[in-house]
Order: sequence, then structure tokens, then C-alpha cells
Amino acid sequence: MKMEGEQHRAHVVVLPYPSQGHINPLLQFAKRLASKGLKATLATTRYTVKSIHAPNVGVEPISDGFDEKGFAQAGSEAVFLKSFEEHGSRTLSELIEKYLSTDDPVACVVYDSFFPWALNVAKQHGIFGAAFFTNSIAISNIFYRLHCGLLKLPLEFHDEALLVPGLPPLNSRDLPSFIRSSGSYPAYLAMKLRQFTNTDKADWIFGNSFEALEYEEAKGISDLWPAKLIGPMVPSTYLDCRIAKDNAYGASLWKPLNIECTNWLETKLPNSILYVSFGSMVSLTAEQMEEIAWGLKESGFPFLWVVRPSELDKLPQGFRESDQENIMIATWCNQLEVLTHRATGCFVTHCGWNSTLEGLSTGVPMIGVPRWADQFTNAKYVEEIWGVGVRPKEDEEGVVRRQEVVKCVNEVMRGERSNEIERNVRKWMGLAKEAISEGGSSDRCINEFVEHLTPRVN
Ligand code: UDP
Repeated sequence: MKMEGEQHRAHVVVLPYPSQGHINPLLQFAKRLASKGLKATLATTRYTVKSIHAPNVGVEPISDGFDEKGFAQAGSEAVFLKSFEEHGSRTLSELIEKYLSTDDPVACVVYDSFFPWALNVAKQHGIFGAAFFTNSIAISNIFYRLHCGLLKLPLEFHDEALLVPGLPPLNSRDLPSFIRSSGSYPAYLAMKLRQFTNTDKADWIFGNSFEALEYEEAKGISDLWPAKLIGPMVPSTYLDCRIAKDNAYGASLWKPLNIECTNWLETKLPNSILYVSFGSMVSLTAEQMEEIAWGLKESGFPFLWVVRPSELDKLPQGFRESDQENIMIATWCNQLEVLTHRATGCFVTHCGWNSTLEGLSTGVPMIGVPRWADQFTNAKYVEEIWGVGVRPKEDEEGVVRRQEVVKCVNEVMRGERSNEIERNVRKWMGLAKEAISEGGSSDRCINEFVEHLTPRVN
């Protein structure tokens, strides 16, 4: 029971898609809301709930219908999403009902844009619903246009480039794989398009980006799809900015080898190592893995490479043992700890959107090696638009060869372009911090949301 005079806190339930790249920014948003005085609860699947450790944020289980093993149990994205809609709608509704008769009835559901059905659940209960898009605004701009027929598949190219308002001309290698002629994942494409089916009825649309980073991209779509940019959703401790401090994301679907990584990093000189990670989903071919492995080794720089347990047997035989001092393989780590360690000089990344924002916000030059989905577009921005890194060329078979890896590492670590990249990196790091600091563009958007939900006291 609230005591007399005690102010009521609005309660927001935050619902992520249960993968690492979606839980991280949505949980971070929940933490940010809690730090601004709201009550925030993360609603996540029974399978992932045990991986969340976030003080100040409540955690509640809901069901995707695969409570034992989650996505792995479903076998396919289409089956998983259908089941999630059915079981998720019911259990999210039950969760909202559970809080009805308490001091903390739910005022708003902030849902991952992959779950447009969550808006219907919120509306059935007469509460607010806000869609949270975890990808870049450039990507939303493209998929929104496809959804409403302003762009059509197959895409029309003019002088080999696709022209989208607000975006630079995109060549075929810059496009999300789901809409290239060769990258067919129909279930993922359908999901990307379905995100927009009811955003016109959402009370807010949030994008994990910031005004300075994607001003044109947001302006190019704002009349049709008015997203509020509230990012980068990166724990503020690592950005050293003027807002409440929060440490790690607070969610880890794999066990991080933090001490081993830190101990290894501590033995290295400033800006001397490469940090390599392909995120939580990309699976490299054995051939690609081998090329990258030998390329990294030939570059002569020590490197820390995150290779998930399921990928380990693709490493060349004896590779790890060939130079134990300079090759550190970890099955998972706290990526932000590594990126902000003084020894880290370059981030070899698949350009998942979170990793891209993390590299940009912590000021680490990048080598973008995109493999699928939106990563190709992000890699184009990293190299050509923000100038914070380089992107290796692939051969006709789509493989990045070892010589290309060596060339890119040299370019970023000591080549002619490294000074210019360094200047750009500093600029974007500053702008990212500014956006989420008190009074920054993203912080103001979050404050407006918080004020709207906070009950007025007369
Ligand atoms: N990550 C991490 N440890 C690792 C590798 C990745 O904590 O060893 C985190 C990383 O900080 C990021 C997320 O996992 O927040 C990956 O999201 P991203 O969008 O970059 O890629 P995805 O995994 O969705 O492809």
C-alpha cells in the first residue's frame, strides 16, 4: 500500500524479443526509465528470465510456448513467432491483470517491434503501447517503405544504386540481405514488414539511435513514421556521461569469461589489440572462419576473438595453441568492458546494430565484416558515412580472404586512413555521449515520455 502523500510511480512493462541483441537495448531502456523514477518491469520468456540480473528493474516471465529451450526448441523463425504471438498475448495479458489490483497497475507496454500483437494486448487493457525498434533508422526507413508499397520488390536500381529519401545511394552490397535477390529468408522478411502493420496506432515509436547520427534518415520518413530517437541504449558507465550510472547490460545468454579476458588485456600495451566478435547469431562457414583466423594472425597484432561454443570446432586445428600469448579465444565476454579497455585498438565486428552503436559510442575504430540481415547497411555507414572504420571486400564467392583482413587491420591500426578514422571516432563518441547526457536530444525524448506517464499531483 502506498502511504499518504507518497507519489505513485507509473509502471511500464518492457517486452523484448528474446535474443541478446534485443534484450540488451530494451533492458537498458527499462533501466533508464527506472533511473528516472518509473517502475519498470522486463517481461521475458521463461527460458531467458534466469539470465537477467538488473537491480531496479522487475523481471516477470511470460511464455513463448517453448519454455524449456526457447527458439532452439521451435526449430524455425516462423514457428517461433506464431507460437510467441499465441502464448505471449495470453501471458502478457495475465501479467497486466496481475498488477491491476495492486498499487502498480501497468500504464504502458513498451514492446519490441517484432511483436506488433503486443500493442493489441495493451489496447485491450486500455493502456498505452510504445513500439521499440532495435535497428537503425535507415533500416526502418527502407522496411517501412517496402511495407506500404513506396518501394517494391524486386528493387529498382538507378545507375546501380537504390535511392531512398534520407539515405545515401545504396548499392546491392549495402542492402539488408533479406531484400537482396540472393538473401532469401522469407520468415524474417515477413517479420520485418509486419513490424509496421499497426505503428500508426502506437502511442510512441522509439528508435535506438540519436538525432546527430541519423538526422537525415529520420527526417526522410518522419511524416509517415514519426519515431523518437532515444539511443544509444548503451550502459552509461561506459560512456562516462552525466546521467545515473549503470554497469553491464544485466543480461547474458552465455557465460562471460570476464576475468580471463581482463587478465589477458592487462598484459597488453595501449591500443595494441584487436577485439573480434560476430555477435550472438552469425554462424561463419568453416572456410570464412579459417580465412579470418589466418588473416588476424598474419596481421601480427594480438587479438581477443569471441567464438561461441557452437562455432569453436570451425577454428583451424592447432590455431589457438599456435600462439597462446597473442591469441585469446573466449566463448563470450562483457563486450563493453573489452571495448573500453585501454589495450583495445580496433573492433572487428559483424556490424550488428548494438555492436555498431557500442563501437561508435566508446570510440573504437571498426572493421565491418557484415554477414546477413541489416549488417551490410550498417557496415556501409561505418565506412562511408561516419568514416569510423573500413569494410573488407569479398571475393566472388562472398568470402573475405586473409590478405584482405591483413590489409584492413593495417589500414585501421597504422595506415594513412587511421588518423582520419581516429578523428571521426572521437567526434561520434562525443556526439553519442551528448545525446544521452542530461538535456541531450535522446534524454529529452525519454523525459517527455516519462512526464507523459507520470500522474500529476495537485
Ligand atoms: N555481446 C556481448 N559479449 C560478446 C558478444 C556480444 O556482451 O561476447 C553483446 C554486445 O555487447 C551486443 C550484443 O551482444 O550488445 C549483440 O548485439 P548485436 O546487435 O551487435 O548483434 P546480434 O548478436 O544481434 O547479431
